[in-house]
Amino acid sequence: MSAAARAYTVEGFNKKFLDIQRASPGCAGYLVDIGFTHWTRAHFQGERFNIMDSNIAESWNSVLKEAREYPLISMCEYIRTTIMSWFALRRAKAMEHKGALTPMVQRQVEVNFEASTALAVCGISETEFQVKAQTGECFLVNLLAGTCSCNAYEQLRIPCRHAVAAAGRANIPTESLVAAAYFADTWHSAYEAKIYPIPSVGGKEVGGEYHGDLLPPAVKRPPGRPRKVRILSRGEDKVLISIFKPHYTFSHNHIV
Ligand SMILES: [Zn+2]
Repeated sequence: MSAAARAYTVEGFNKKFLDIQRASPGCAGYLVDIGFTHWTRAHFQGERFNIMDSNIAESWNSVLKEAREYPLISMCEYIRTTIMSWFALRRAKAMEHKGALTPMVQRQVEVNFEASTALAVCGISETEFQVKAQTGECFLVNLLAGTCSCNAYEQLRIPCRHAVAAAGRANIPTESLVAAAYFADTWHSAYEAKIYPIPSVGGKEVGGEYHGDLLPPAVKRPPGRPRKVRILSRGEDKVLISIFKPHYTFSHNHIV
């Protein structure tokens, strides 16, 4: 399923999806109902660069598991402190890095460069190239448009092995084919902003003096204990998967 979700082309996706259908028609039906645009790279309409993640809201839920039971102000303070320290850690990591590209993308480009040496490149025009693999598979690279018929280049915006091979032939530095989003400068600027403590937390009050009666909000507390279990979001069902746990929360977005 991960391979189907990550396929770059619709043809590649179809092949993997047939495997899912053969292995489990029920699972295939479930995946069709979700809609391919929601969980496959090949059908996704927007730009997702190299990001394929599971549900970000679920990740937050797990971070806030303990804090969910705190009073509101303490919970907000917990969230603020968590983000403050995350930013500081990531900023330090970004500042430590010396290369032009982010470390993971740099590695990816190097891997693609290694693989590109086995490819046969033929020029079509100044910016278009035919790139042939040893398997006989043939790809069309357009360096000006930033595309390759394998689709990986335009989807990731990181030159695939074919584009790297074509760039070598055209005498263009590989880095110039990488999207600005993957440059270390962009990485640094993402964590430039700092998050500071809120002065009122810790005793000192913010703002001017308040004249008037402070009343609690006019809400009625419903009968019974306050619920602790999170309300499931749309598309989430509790299903019974005996191989895992007796009660397993299965989310549409838990894919990759
Ligand atoms: Zn390619």
